[in-house]
Amino acid sequence: MIFTDTHTHLYSEEFDGETDAMINRAINAGVTLMFVPSIDSSYTDKMYALEARYPENVFLMMGLHPTYVKDNYEEELAHVEAELAKRNFAAVGEIGIDLYWDKTRLKEQQYAFKHQIQLAKKYGLPINIHCRDAFDEVFEVLESEKGEGLYGIFHCFTGNFEQAQQAISYNLKLGIGGVATFKNGKIDQFLADIDIKDIVLETDSPYLAPVPHRGKRNESSYTVLIAEKLAALYNLSLEEIAAITTANSKAVFGI
Ligand SMILES: [Zn+2]
Repeated sequence: MIFTDTHTHLYSEEFDGETDAMINRAINAGVTLMFVPSIDSSYTDKMYALEARYPENVFLMMGLHPTYVKDNYEEELAHVEAELAKRNFAAVGEIGIDLYWDKTRLKEQQYAFKHQIQLAKKYGLPINIHCRDAFDEVFEVLESEKGEGLYGIFHCFTGNFEQAQQAISYNLKLGIGGVATFKNGKIDQFLADIDIKDIVLETDSPYLAPVPHRGKRNESSYTVLIAEKLAALYNLSLEEIAAITTANSKAVFGI
């Protein structure tokens, strides 16, 4: 069985000193494909080093995360642009809008999101979307960029059924993680009504650990726990969930 974690911050300081042990736990659990979103330029070297150590397992994205859209965002976008021009990536991400932490930079976040979608189209890459307290704002940008060339993953999807359908209408798969295992996570109530072909798995580690690790540090090996939850919701075997969601992920990332 091969599981795919489509969103994992392997370079996080939370793993410092035990990153290799953590990655090997994932590989041993069958989570052999790990897709790593970028948040800002300060992590780029660390990401390249991980990719060099695990070329069969670690795949990188490039992008500026919405909560890292700060005063120097133009410089950061120039970095994203330069790296995309230099080499190949699995996706542009993570990009989007986050109004949970800071609402004052909405305009800049909208600009950065739209600009990076256009970069993804330029390079024929999928996008990996981060959306927190900002469904309307994210959908507004997607509406203006929809159609030819727009595709990817709506990472850490936590919306309702209608929002799920709208996301899928933009050629996006839903990234489903630990929230699906939470008692009050809500998405477990309608997930089985979403076609499994539109679902990919993710941990978003080190954040959002699935039950029974909720509240503790998350890691990619826990992708299996999310797959087990989906197997129960969809009434499919774990093997089927692994095979289908891995095929979905490969189709998006083109590997
Ligand atoms: Zn993330």
